[in-house]
Amino acid sequence: MLLVVRGRSKVISTKETRYITNYMSSLIMSKQLCKNLRVIVKYVKDIDGDGDGRMIWLDDNHNPREYMIEINNTLKRDRQLEAIAHEITHVKQYAKGELKDMVRGANRVKWHSRPVSNDTDYWFEPWEIEARGFEAALTWYYKAHVKDTKKKF
Ligand SMILES: [Zn+2]
Repeated sequence: MLLVVRGRSKVISTKETRYITNYMSSLIMSKQLCKNLRVIVKYVKDIDGDGDGRMIWLDDNHNPREYMIEINNTLKRDRQLEAIAHEITHVKQYAKGELKDMVRGANRVKWHSRPVSNDTDYWFEPWEIEARGFEAALTWYYKAHVKDTKKKF
């Protein structure tokens, strides 16, 4: 994975951000897939739409390989970890073709090859349900891993 970290977080160093992104990616994507991705993790104060994080693909709506993840750097450390995990899950969904934007900018998406209605509420969108599940799982695994390996950053 070609990884670039932009901006700063007071609670997660650039070095650790790289480590987290690689580690969490390895839990949900194959080595082969990870190898082909380019990801920018950018810490920002404000995020459009007030979220804790967001993800956009930069290259192409068909099998994108280049992504930018924005993380709200005003959150507590655990919440920033969860936000990275959440957005990495969205990278996985696009990279594996599970989630597809049909036309750039338009609200038409397919989930596992099926169109999903625009009216679907955020909390019920299947990719968000998965991302909320994985944000907890990946964060839990990461924290256990750091504890086990006594890793310092
Ligand atoms: Zn999401």
